[in-house]
Amino acid sequence: MEILEQAQILERKGEDIVHMEIGEPDFATPWSIREAAIKAIREGKTFYTHSLGLLDLRERISQFYLDTRGIDVSPERIIVTNGTSGAFFLLSAVLLDGKKGLIVSDPGYPCYRNFGVLADAPVVSLPVSRESEFEIAPEQLGEIRVKNPMLMICSPSNPTGTVYGKPALEGLYQAVTHKQGIMAVDEIYSGLSYGDDYPSALSVSDEIVVIDGFSKTYAMTGWRLGWTVVPDKLVRSLQTVAQHVFISAPTVAQYAALAAFDAVDDINEMRKTYEVRRDFLFPRLKEIGFELPARPAAAFYVYANIEKWGIDSMEFVERALAEAKVAITPGYDFGSYNAGSHVRFSYATAVERLAEGCRRLEKWTNSL
Ligand code: PLP
Repeated sequence: MEILEQAQILERKGEDIVHMEIGEPDFATPWSIREAAIKAIREGKTFYTHSLGLLDLRERISQFYLDTRGIDVSPERIIVTNGTSGAFFLLSAVLLDGKKGLIVSDPGYPCYRNFGVLADAPVVSLPVSRESEFEIAPEQLGEIRVKNPMLMICSPSNPTGTVYGKPALEGLYQAVTHKQGIMAVDEIYSGLSYGDDYPSALSVSDEIVVIDGFSKTYAMTGWRLGWTVVPDKLVRSLQTVAQHVFISAPTVAQYAALAAFDAVDDINEMRKTYEVRRDFLFPRLKEIGFELPARPAAAFYVYANIEKWGIDSMEFVERALAEAKVAITPGYDFGSYNAGSHVRFSYATAVERLAEGCRRLEKWTNSL
């Protein structure tokens, strides 16, 4: 966020900044979804819903797993939450404490470890690198002392775009089970995959927790709606916390979300646009001299190595902003392992702006 704030200060002074740091779709929510919300408001759907979420919506999410992944998920195991962030909160409140630790990857999405900190749980960060395609290997879990851990991974991942294949998910699940722990997979970028559909962790076991949401694929960040699919045995305890902390997820957003799965043309159009941007940005960054892992198969990020310029990533992004007027995210936002030698680019920005950003970065890096 700091870079975004610095960029906004410069913009208020009249500077033109190319934003390649924002991890949020640049599209407004598709009209059909917005209209479903307007209809709900007109009809006075302004009350709390069931604490697990509208049954219609949970059934629709269940149908989504059947249609897209061929997986039968009972609506009874689905909890609609206040964004996926709300789901992380519920899970950390129920599954973590001073003894039950959290295992995350480094680099990884930073909020996970902060939910661990909030629950006063030991947090173990496992380093992942380009050599292992930024995946946690099951053997890494073997070395950990934490009891009954919750392993939290992201697939497709922010910031690296990593997608765990089914054998990798199975290996991790076995390793976590061996430690009497629980595995949770954040699949929020699942709808933004540009190749074959990848396997949901729900295809591995009903005992795995999956978190997903409407923010990214459906361009609904401001509606604050997500969901989690949990093993039967966890529903009641998560529901109890949800009842006390949230009462229910936002009602109008839930009615809007009922239309989200049918906005197929809009979703496909947005996905196609991200893909075009990726296909532009990836080779262009390489041309400028960034060292990149495999072309990301999903999400809208490129995690780039900047070692060749011999500048720490914090200084690199601050200077890129000040001198090239391009905002990017330093590796430190995602952990500490190799953080000084990496930055993250987001391509949730029009291709013309990406082109302009790259032109400026090329000129600037050539001058370093
Ligand atoms: N999970 C990941 C990996 C993210 O990158 C983000 C947002 O950037 C979120 C979750 C937050 O999602 P939500 O808007 O559903 O709370």
